[in-house]
Amino acid sequence: MKQPTLNLSPSPGDEVKTTTCYMCACRCGIKVWLQDGRIRYIQGNPAHPVNQGVLCAKGAAGIMQHYSPARLSKPMLRVGERGSGEFREIEWEEALQIATDWLAPIRERNPDELAFFTGRDQSQALTGWWAQQFGTINYAAHGGFCSVNMAAGGLYTLGGSFWEFGEPDWEHARYFMLWGVAEDHDSNPIKLGLGKLKARGAKIVAVNPVRTGYGAIADEWIGIRPGSDGLFAFALIHELLRMDRIDLDYLVRYANAHWLVVRNPGGADDGLFARDAYGNPWCWDRGALAPSPANAGEGWGGVSALQDADSPEDTPSQPPPAVAGGGAQARADAIDISPAVVGEYTLADGRKTVPVFQLIAERYLDPQYSPDVASERCGIPADTIRRIARELAEAAFESNLTLPIAWTDAWGREHAEMVGRPVAMHAMRGISAHSNGFHTCRALHLLQLLLGAVDAPGSFRYQPPFPKPSPPGNRPGKARKDNGALDAPPLGFVHAPEDLLVNEHGQPRRIDHAFSWAYPLAAHGMLHTVIRNAHAGDPYPIDTLLMFMANMSWNSAMNTRETMQWLTDKDASGDYKIPRIIYSDAYASEMVAYADLVLPDTTYLERFDAISLLDRPISDADGAADAIRHPLFDPATQGAADATHADGKPRDVRGFQSVLLDLGARLGLPGMVHADGSPTYRDYADYIVRHERAPGVGLLAGWRGADGAQHGKGAPNPAQLEAYIANNGFWREEIPEHARYFKMGNRGYLEWAQRFGFVAGTEPIVLQLYSETLQKFRLAAQGHGALQPPPEHRERVATYFDPLPIWYEPFEGAQLSLRDANDASQDGASSERFPLSAITQRPMFMYHAWGSQNAWLRQIATRNWLYLHPDTASKYGIADEDWIEVASHHGKITVQAKFAGNMQPDTVWSWNAIGKRKGAWKLAKDAPEGEKGFLLNHLISDITPKGDYANADPVTGQAAWFDLRVSIRKAAVHTDAQTARQSAPQFAPIAFAQADEHPLRYGADLRRKRGA
Ligand code: SF4
Repeated sequence: MKQPTLNLSPSPGDEVKTTTCYMCACRCGIKVWLQDGRIRYIQGNPAHPVNQGVLCAKGAAGIMQHYSPARLSKPMLRVGERGSGEFREIEWEEALQIATDWLAPIRERNPDELAFFTGRDQSQALTGWWAQQFGTINYAAHGGFCSVNMAAGGLYTLGGSFWEFGEPDWEHARYFMLWGVAEDHDSNPIKLGLGKLKARGAKIVAVNPVRTGYGAIADEWIGIRPGSDGLFAFALIHELLRMDRIDLDYLVRYANAHWLVVRNPGGADDGLFARDAYGNPWCWDRGALAPSPANAGEGWGGVSALQDADSPEDTPSQPPPAVAGGGAQARADAIDISPAVVGEYTLADGRKTVPVFQLIAERYLDPQYSPDVASERCGIPADTIRRIARELAEAAFESNLTLPIAWTDAWGREHAEMVGRPVAMHAMRGISAHSNGFHTCRALHLLQLLLGAVDAPGSFRYQPPFPKPSPPGNRPGKARKDNGALDAPPLGFVHAPEDLLVNEHGQPRRIDHAFSWAYPLAAHGMLHTVIRNAHAGDPYPIDTLLMFMANMSWNSAMNTRETMQWLTDKDASGDYKIPRIIYSDAYASEMVAYADLVLPDTTYLERFDAISLLDRPISDADGAADAIRHPLFDPATQGAADATHADGKPRDVRGFQSVLLDLGARLGLPGMVHADGSPTYRDYADYIVRHERAPGVGLLAGWRGADGAQHGKGAPNPAQLEAYIANNGFWREEIPEHARYFKMGNRGYLEWAQRFGFVAGTEPIVLQLYSETLQKFRLAAQGHGALQPPPEHRERVATYFDPLPIWYEPFEGAQLSLRDANDASQDGASSERFPLSAITQRPMFMYHAWGSQNAWLRQIATRNWLYLHPDTASKYGIADEDWIEVASHHGKITVQAKFAGNMQPDTVWSWNAIGKRKGAWKLAKDAPEGEKGFLLNHLISDITPKGDYANADPVTGQAAWFDLRVSIRKAAVHTDAQTARQSAPQFAPIAFAQADEHPLRYGADLRRKRGA
């Protein structure tokens, strides 16, 4: 019988173009197939270093993102009241003239009256520079409400961090702990990596109150109580110390374990490092008692006297004795010494000192951190904690992992091999979005360091340009130059009180209060405080709020109801208290309705972007890399007529980055105009190619120099973007094999990194177990130094600027407990009034609000539920799918419950950002997202229960989304059937035009045509 001829590999389209996905933060390489000028198919790019061909549901659904009926199509000027969504369309020239007329007087008068805040944009190398040139200190992106605790905790400890700046050693790890990681950040690389671990039989342990996503394939799930991760880490540290299972050789070589800390209670130098006249730290050289690197992890040098390594299980938990030792003080960075790590030592000048490790042992061997004590609060059996500690130690010290790679350390010593510590960790928002998150992140890094498991084979690995000196050297800009520009970018790293942005009375200078005594190390700013403070004029009124891609009137705001009121509130004269709001977005989000002027952005397939080493690159542990996006279409040809919902109009949108540069030129900002006033840059693409941050350093590192032959540094190359496009949209340079581990102390790596400008010199980067920066703040709070906190902040700074990691109860639960205890009218403690933790996770199939309006992704979910454990439900008499009332100290919502057994019973949770305000995103007014979907944000206060500070971490200002405590009860029976089907609260629908909801048939005609 004749067999039919089958084409088993039909071409999906007429042509294919490669670019970078923007359906989440991961920045995978994609191949976009086109047919008749329309997108036919998106696939992962196998040649791309980030995803190696893997594509997730979001990435594939980019077609519907590009053709979304919610796309904005023209600049708009508000005609109705703020929040109503009533606008008239205007031309770009009018829009840019209005913006220029608003901004020019501000720059003339006081640039700080412009507050410029962006959301999840990927162009902070431009937006931060633009703000600097405008001269406003009031700039930040979204990191403050995302995971700055993670970034700051890492950068102030390791000079690098988890987030997207480091990765587990997927090839060699044998034990992997995932702390508080949902499925959003670093999505496809983690999936690929987990597959490798599974194939090799490595153990995966997921620590998370909810077992979803990655946790579902973990070998062990630890359903921890929210906010107690730091305590769990300390209990593990307690056990490792007790068992004497510490890599002291590593700690002395790469960290400051042996640096001497001055003990002078009440003195101005108490807790600072003892240093010589040139600032070099001292250690105590024990002379003949030399250490042996071979026995790391099994007791070493001074610490072998600390515990009996032969019988760790029997060893009582107690700190090492503080003893006077023989020997002499010596420079801590000398190599031919035998530094003491325990004991007390008197310097030649008479000062008493102790090594950092002595302080670590004293603190974490305290019984308060024993597994038996930590168990109850963490919700983890003590035996489990002890077992995990043993497993960590075994994996780190008994795997005998060595790589036969010769290398030279930063001090010039040659090594024949690389000794591994195959324990890897990765952590994310689950641990950082708490008011104790900064110290919890530091606690995890301390745990890693004690195991020698940072950038050793098998452990956590830095991705270039990290590691950086800890903390990084760039301080936030605070003064203006003669040309009106700030003396440095608005965001940076505070090293001491002198770097704060406070006035002569110690009060905040920034509108978000970042870098003030209330939130000193707010390295990413505090987007979550801007609208409250701008409304209140605290510390001063602003004129214009410029925002980009930040849905701050809805799912990106705490205290949503009041935030909407602040945006619309008027003064006695009838003027808005926030006088002007300019907003740029590609879609008709909830925030668009609150803008006075709307600047419509393109989709990610219509513009140039630089995924830059100056911002958040796509490097991996074995190579530096960056990437671009480039226009696959002219937006004018991508009218709604191409989409499933036709209105026939061409779109007239512009990439926000190009618009910013246009505005900068119209305003005559330094660096954006030539001497004759003409624009320096044609558009963002031109800026990407020609702008130099320093001689030879631009946004992209690949194909630099006039002929494109240089990489890293080099003169601008006019053909650079073409070179990227020809290379699948990315550039990557491999780190030499001998330079891929121990980057903080590897001469080969440091020389390689210096060539790219990642580090200034080749000195080793010392990892900070003990943070002198934090101690400087504590000393200031104790009354030392020229700059001291105002009285109202002293106790707070003294408490939370502990130089070693601490754990404390998250503020919301602690303060509610205190309030109840002081309030005789309340029955019982907060554990009874608000007995449950409530958290959100981002669905793996959606990314923020912009993913949950996507027509294809909406087929997976159009509404969310409040998930609760069946045991919890039965305790409160709640049945599956009952409507329930959820209350916090701040508010109340009515939502539908659903049972789920994959969670810690004292926690309830939901997907974030699926709930929408009616009318937003041009969804139908009765769309399930608005009818049954909901936000937990309505329950989350933006200030603490006491009302004294933002609902945030006291060190970094990170938004404490996951501190939320709630109570639940079955909702009263609704008599109105219609109301019973709706979540509450509901708000007036936004008056955006509704998209045509005819059946989704996108691509059917393309398929038919192709088949024919
Ligand atoms: S993980 Fe993110 S960047 Fe990668 S394909 Fe999915 S949506 Fe796109």
